[in-house]
Amino acid sequence: MINFWTRSIQYIKGVGPHKATLLNKLGIFTIGDLLEHYPRRYEDRSQLKMINSLIDGQLETFKAKVVNFVETKPRRGLSILKMSVSDGSGVAQVVWFNQPHMKKKYQTGMEVIVSGKIKIFYQVEVQNPEIEVIDSSEPIDTGRIIPVYAASENINQRFLRTMINQVLNDYQEIIEILPTNIIDKFSLFNRRLAFEAIHFPQSMEILERARQRLVFEELYLLQCSLLLLKKQHRNHHMGIKHGLDALLSSQAYKNLPFRLTDDQEKVLSEVKSDMEDITTMQRLLQGDVGSGKTIIAALALIKTVENGYQGAMMVPTEILAEQHYKTLSELFAPLGITVCMLTGKLSRRLREDVLCKLREGLVDVIIGTHALIQEVVEFKYLGLVVTDEQHRFGVRQRSILQEKGNMPDVLVMTATPIPRTMALTVYGDLDVSSIRQLPPGRKAIRTFVRGSDRRHLVYKFIVDEVKNGRQAYVVCPLVEESEKIDAQSAVELYEQLIQTDLKDIPCGLVHGKMKAVDKETVMNGFYSGEIKVLIATTVIEVGVNVPNATVMVIEGAERFGLAQLHQLRGRIGRGAHQSYCILLSDNRNPETQERLTIMTTTNDGFVLAEEDLKLRGPGQFFGTRQHGLPDLKIADIISDISILLEAKRAAEQTIANADDCVSIRSVLSQRFGKEIGMMFSN
Ligand code: ADP
Ligand code: MG
Repeated sequence: MINFWTRSIQYIKGVGPHKATLLNKLGIFTIGDLLEHYPRRYEDRSQLKMINSLIDGQLETFKAKVVNFVETKPRRGLSILKMSVSDGSGVAQVVWFNQPHMKKKYQTGMEVIVSGKIKIFYQVEVQNPEIEVIDSSEPIDTGRIIPVYAASENINQRFLRTMINQVLNDYQEIIEILPTNIIDKFSLFNRRLAFEAIHFPQSMEILERARQRLVFEELYLLQCSLLLLKKQHRNHHMGIKHGLDALLSSQAYKNLPFRLTDDQEKVLSEVKSDMEDITTMQRLLQGDVGSGKTIIAALALIKTVENGYQGAMMVPTEILAEQHYKTLSELFAPLGITVCMLTGKLSRRLREDVLCKLREGLVDVIIGTHALIQEVVEFKYLGLVVTDEQHRFGVRQRSILQEKGNMPDVLVMTATPIPRTMALTVYGDLDVSSIRQLPPGRKAIRTFVRGSDRRHLVYKFIVDEVKNGRQAYVVCPLVEESEKIDAQSAVELYEQLIQTDLKDIPCGLVHGKMKAVDKETVMNGFYSGEIKVLIATTVIEVGVNVPNATVMVIEGAERFGLAQLHQLRGRIGRGAHQSYCILLSDNRNPETQERLTIMTTTNDGFVLAEEDLKLRGPGQFFGTRQHGLPDLKIADIISDISILLEAKRAAEQTIANADDCVSIRSVLSQRFGKEIGMMFSN
């Protein structure tokens, strides 16, 4: 029955092979695509103006008859075409510059609808307006609220309106796909009515309800598929059942150098109870920079080792791998747990050795970069996979590592707080734990925005802090997404600073193009406190933990997104001393200034992430599309958050009910089988 949805548009009267090709270019292949080719905006032609009541400076729409054309060429290279139109109440001039061909499009006596910005000087003028010719036999273009679609040169508004109108009239099969109880509960329009009204609304109120219904449907179906995916994981992934905490775990807990915060305790118990369950853990742990996620990962790794399994932790950079290796070695040594590191820089011999030990089960925990997902890496009995800074990895990379074991538990951690909206849509297949609280004793970082006229003062401030025993970071402007060019700019800045403002201070330089050993030497110098100021590219963005560092200067701050600035800022404020972040920028653009100012008003990564998402849109937020979800056609996950929450609740209700679940599954596979398939294979 629903099949008409996927039927080719060639079945529509008036669409032959030629038109079909043109429609394909607009992304319309099936009748369903056509119905889901939602208007981009609407024009309220139920309230057409008369020419004598048009208001100067306003965007207005009026209906008139073409009277005549006058073309003038006041100077070389400029032609002005004026078309006079009249509606009985007055005359208006439609004006085009250098578009003489417009004369051929319209003829004297034609009735047209003109929309544009009105200019009243000696006469009523409207330049480059949108114009539609009225064919009196087709009332769908006038006297009501008119849909305006994404169109093309060969497929015009009129054609789209006519085709959609025809499909709505000819096909009675737009059957309901939402369960009745959901429709009733959320008082939704029925499906047929919603499609009619989204294209040809009788009023703005009706349009709003139609939109609401279709947004709900889209988000509901998406949520249902994510929930099914999760359920599938659960059912098919009978995994490892870790035992309750025993000696090692309780010893580790006792040895902790600090008391866990309440949030950490809560998250830890969520992780542990997942691990103790027979189904595989699929948990996302999100927590702001410095909130203390590493210790949770460490305790989970200890638990898997205690149960006779191996653990793996994958991180995006070598610097971070080194850092975690150090932290974990200290925690693990007294417990007799062995930990190794696997990164690209290991010598061949060492690498062979590590790989062999892993395979034989002689290593308990491995920490590494992408090197971990190479084919040669094998485990004896992998029980837990942790990925840190998940946003740096694709979903695919996570699952490759996972597949190296037999249904290991999975914990993914991210410090890019995913706005709630995003978490619901993108990570719908994961359970989410959050740490929102920072460890006690941290002082809020103070943030300032400064222009380069203050640059010397800023560097003088660094010198003062160093004299007081502190350390500092300087981040170079992000030139573009090229490590090589960023590296060059870092080198230049370094050379410049050590000859001028930071002349007498021990400085170090790190960037992505350096040899691993050199990087390590510099990082170690900074960890030990020998190096006082670290000049770096964004390689230090994740993970680096030097509590004594109290200043973060970011050059060319306008080039970074809010989430990234926040991440960089997270390198400081990790110790007992007051920390300062200074954003240097000469960009006077008010929007840029506003964006940077947000940084000075909050240290809450969740708030910043929401702002970033609003400012840059979801595509930018994640850099690349790595989540493999279908594109949304009508919903806007930012402004439709309340509908999203309702849709999620509704989806949970449906999936919990066996009968509803079966019917929605068939709807889903018919509606977007392909994308769902993609998600499964991701
Ligand atoms: P992130 O969540 O950014 O990975 P880390 O795990 O690196 O944060 O923790 C940041 C710092 O806070 C580390 O130096 C860590 O030892 C410390 N820390 C973590 N939890 C606590 C706590 N409950 N009390 C005090 N310090 C803590
Ligand atoms: Mg971390």
